[in-house]
Amino acid sequence: MTNKKGVLVIVSGPAGTGKGTVIGRVGELRGDLRYSVSATTRAPRPGETDGVNYYFKTREEFETMIGAGAFLEYAEYVGNLYGTPAGPVDESLSAGLNVILEIEVQGAAQVMARRPDAVSVFLAPPSLAELESRLRGRGTEDDATIRRRLDTARGELALAKGYQYIIVNDDVETAARELDAVITAGRCRSMYYPEGENLL
Ligand code: ADP
Ligand code: 5GP
Repeated sequence: MTNKKGVLVIVSGPAGTGKGTVIGRVGELRGDLRYSVSATTRAPRPGETDGVNYYFKTREEFETMIGAGAFLEYAEYVGNLYGTPAGPVDESLSAGLNVILEIEVQGAAQVMARRPDAVSVFLAPPSLAELESRLRGRGTEDDATIRRRLDTARGELALAKGYQYIIVNDDVETAARELDAVITAGRCRSMYYPEGENLL
């Protein structure tokens, strides 16, 4: 017998903490990951591609999707809407792929409430000073946006204890190995197997 169903993995953490970097590395370590592509009203950054990094939407288009019940969760974050399209998540889980939701804390709380099968991981920076330096080093946001994101980060860090796992992203390789281990453990949970004598 084997568990043929994938694990739904929530990864939250302040902007600039290294979620994209660590998830990218885990994707190299194991071939059974599917990154859920979110919809957002945020403008694309240089180098971002529609349908790969995000589905870029107008606010009106996004609100139509909300009305149609298209989202597993959605939230407003620093002035923009972000949401996880529900359909592809369940299709991938049924196909045995582990689905990574890289989402902020309000959306994570919605998924935790709706999906008790989800595994929740908070990726924390080693310090606030290091977080600021990573955000600035990435060079993708202006100074005002960085300051708003750092303010938001303080509130987000206070929620870390509500997640099943906390991984500190000091070293990318270590953090990636820890996330890899959490996914493997999640996949071994008895909840994926039938009751009693039907186990095998
Ligand atoms: P997020 O997806 O959480 O917003 P990114 O993955 O874009 O964060 O990382 C933000 C910046 O920090 C990037 O420039 C990235 O290269 C860098 N970074 C990520 N993880 C580490 C780490 N462990 N040590 C040093 N720099 C890192
Ligand atoms: P960014 O603008 O830097 O790409 O993302 C800003 C924040 O929104 C990050 O914390 C990111 O994880 C989060 N985010 C991305 N997609 C979604 C989503 O579909 N839902 C929610 N709730 N947050 C998201």
